[in-house]
Amino acid sequence: MKFRAPVSKNETYDVTIMDLTYQGMGVAKIDSFPIFVANSLPGEEIVMKVTKVAKTYAFGRVMEWKSKSPDRVEDKDAQYTQTGIAPLQHLAYPAQLEFKQHQIQELFYKVHLNSVEVSPTIGMDKPYGYRNKAQIPVRSVNGQLTTGFYRRNSHDLVPMEDFYIQDPEIDKAIVVVRDILRKYHTAPYNEENHTGVIKTIMVRRGHYSHEMMIVLITRAKKIPMNFEITEEIRKQLPEVKSIIQNVNAAQTNVLMGKEEKILWGSAVIHDTLLGQNFAISADSFYQVNPVQTEKLYELAIKKAGLTGNETVIDAYCGIGTISLAMAQHAKTVYGVEIVDKAIQDAKINAKLNKIHNVKFFTGKAEEQMDKWQHDGLEPAVIVVDPPRKGLAPEFITAATAMTPKKVVYVSCNPSTLVRDVQLFMENGYHVDQPVVPIDQFPQTPHVESVTVLVKD
Ligand code: SAH
Repeated sequence: MKFRAPVSKNETYDVTIMDLTYQGMGVAKIDSFPIFVANSLPGEEIVMKVTKVAKTYAFGRVMEWKSKSPDRVEDKDAQYTQTGIAPLQHLAYPAQLEFKQHQIQELFYKVHLNSVEVSPTIGMDKPYGYRNKAQIPVRSVNGQLTTGFYRRNSHDLVPMEDFYIQDPEIDKAIVVVRDILRKYHTAPYNEENHTGVIKTIMVRRGHYSHEMMIVLITRAKKIPMNFEITEEIRKQLPEVKSIIQNVNAAQTNVLMGKEEKILWGSAVIHDTLLGQNFAISADSFYQVNPVQTEKLYELAIKKAGLTGNETVIDAYCGIGTISLAMAQHAKTVYGVEIVDKAIQDAKINAKLNKIHNVKFFTGKAEEQMDKWQHDGLEPAVIVVDPPRKGLAPEFITAATAMTPKKVVYVSCNPSTLVRDVQLFMENGYHVDQPVVPIDQFPQTPHVESVTVLVKD
């Protein structure tokens, strides 16, 4: 029998939104067939037009609201949802925090772990203007060099000056640099023909240090008038300590290329996290929400329950920010990370802070854990902060074989968290209540949390 979807393209339907997806889309159901609708919220009754039908789901667009959610925020510009820079801005902040808490809770319920409690999400007092880094595409719009953000699921540039979730000083700097590039007739990148000079402006600003770095990511090796451009940036933006050109001649979605030139100033800027100093280069990974990162690390340290005598493993350590914060409370910290450049930065950062009880290793965490286990390392605490795909099963096997008292799991993806927690439970660990969500990305659907697993 041929399957028929219960909806047809271009038809309109009256529906009630039941749920919100991880991407922040409302979900309506017709005969249990899900239809995803942007800019709709749970409880809203809408008239919806179906825009696309796939085998097991469809997409729709709101044509009219019959009723609106009491949690809807209406005073913000629609461009934030259109571009996907702040896809949850139409949901009031307290409701965003609840949404994140419930999302984790539901995933535990789904696998019948009803006893796992998830606490309310730790939010921000000011849930905007938080990002310390921006990567802004530069294109031609109506014949003029323009900065903005891509429309969702496209590469059309929507001109924008206020990015809402970025440090406002970064927003101002982007406009200044844009105007300087206009003045010197720098050619914006044309994606179709792969022509033009400047592809992206990246700006980083230290939350505490106020040191600013400007990176001009270019297709061309040379920026015409680069001396004049650099001089004007320096003059107009006194916080700038570093101006860098990164050449990325490839026709690719990867942002940065390998070739880097310092146009002026230093190769790095500095900022502090929990009082420790970090050198940040153009291509370093550095947490983008410094206020919430401090809360996250403090919580991880507290939950680890360190007394100063412990051996700690920090897996997926990046540039060593968690390792260095924990080192002050532990005997020795071992960090492992797959990107060698990040490990080099971690070693520099240890020196910078005069911390000697840390050892950093480049490698796959799952392989290094296996090695450590065979070498007889006995960590009291293992901290993990993996990317979205979570932990490899071999990682969990090696980690639990080392019988640490605690595993502190920092997660940016609740689905893989729940999957991994189940494996830890099969290997003699239980969840120390509750799981704590911490909002690292207000106005977006990203869910970050800390879970502690304790040996039975
Ligand atoms: N804990 C750090 C970084 C967390 S981001 C911080 O708070 O800043 C996750 C890190 O895991 C990234 O740096 C990524 O390069 C690294 N990574 C990804 N896969 C890995 C693997 N298989 N083994 C080790 N590190 C990995």
